Amino acid sequence: MDLFEHQAKELFAEYGIPVPRGIVAHTAEEARAAAEQLTGRVVVKAQVKTGGRGKAGGVKVADDAADAEQKAGQILGMDIKGHTVHKVLIEEASDIAEEYYFSFLLDRANRTFLAICSASGGMDIEEVAHTAPEKVAKVPVSPLTGVDLARAREIAKAGGLPERSLDGAAALIEKIWAVFVDEDASLVEVNPLILAADGQVKALDGKVTLDENAEFRQKEHVAYVDKAAEDPLEARAKEKNLNYVKLDGNVGIIGNGAGLVMSTLDVVAYAGESVPGKPKPANFLDIGGGASAEVMANGLEIILSDPAVTSVFVNVFGGITACDAVANGIVSAFKLLGERGETVTRPLVVRLDGNNAALGREILQSAGLPGVELVDTMDEAAKRAAELAAVGA
Ligand code: GDP
Ligand code: MN
Repeated sequence: MDLFEHQAKELFAEYGIPVPRGIVAHTAEEARAAAEQLTGRVVVKAQVKTGGRGKAGGVKVADDAADAEQKAGQILGMDIKGHTVHKVLIEEASDIAEEYYFSFLLDRANRTFLAICSASGGMDIEEVAHTAPEKVAKVPVSPLTGVDLARAREIAKAGGLPERSLDGAAALIEKIWAVFVDEDASLVEVNPLILAADGQVKALDGKVTLDENAEFRQKEHVAYVDKAAEDPLEARAKEKNLNYVKLDGNVGIIGNGAGLVMSTLDVVAYAGESVPGKPKPANFLDIGGGASAEVMANGLEIILSDPAVTSVFVNVFGGITACDAVANGIVSAFKLLGERGETVTRPLVVRLDGNNAALGREILQSAGLPGVELVDTMDEAAKRAAELAAVGA
């Protein structure tokens, strides 16, 4: 999960990293009030989870509150690389003497952490890395020894930072390391890291990527979830503990086991190629090994809430949870959905294989659920689901 710049800076501040004072504003009027509170010159910064805001015109210095209001008006609503600006950060303007680059990240290829540091930071860092790679120091960091003040100073020195900035940069880098480790981040980037005219070294920008696999021990990270940007179906599925990913096709997919669901997506996409309108999978949904009726009902409900879905393919390989249990799950799911006022009206293709498949099919057949078709093989079932999707579209 990526954080907004203002969130990254709030986190930095908690760790004692110097950042400019700032206030988030959602409207031009709020921007004016924020600028009045901060007094003096301010910077108006688009809050979008993408880089290159400066070059896109999403970062502007304003002379006073009226100017801040006007510039916020220009920036709010702007589109930056496909991201609409819904809020701006109003910050006290810094008097920049020098711009550096600093980041900690996970170096997967070398199975270690990496510190990247350069005295040539700012908006052209990619260009510098390309044309003058020697100006960008890449220092491996062992997770066992980490980064203390002395090591932080070495990294800053390797990046070519001048003597006058070393103490400030080292103190800051040591704290960035604490953020990186304690928050389970996979990236913490500060570009630019500046030397201000008053001699202070501070973080003028912040990009933080948190490792979602660490959510279980980072309970407070839920506060960073951007509810507005989340797909509503994915959010609902998450609340029900379902492994659901929204895709943009018409064939709803339910399967047990991530591997089976992934291959189901492939098979359906392939089958759809030879059907008019070329229907594609509408989602990924893995109901897991012990699929109860309730899980099946929740899964079907989520899938059928997607208006793009015109057919559903339930692909189950019975294992520990045998096919008869899954079949009973489908029958109960139809009942449950009916009771919830969400009667299933779109066609459902079911393929059951593996443990107790015959019994499972028998249960479904005798239940006589409307719109449910049993198909024996995965390829045939995918083809049928694609055909039905095309008819319903
Ligand atoms: P990015 O382009 O998305 O990475 O946005 P940044 O936050 O890095 O801002 C881009 C550039 O705006 C920086 O490299 C600075 O040159 C400039 N900038 C940002 N804040 C200030 C400020 O307080 N004062 C001045 N003078 N320039 C700033
Ligand atoms: Mn930046």
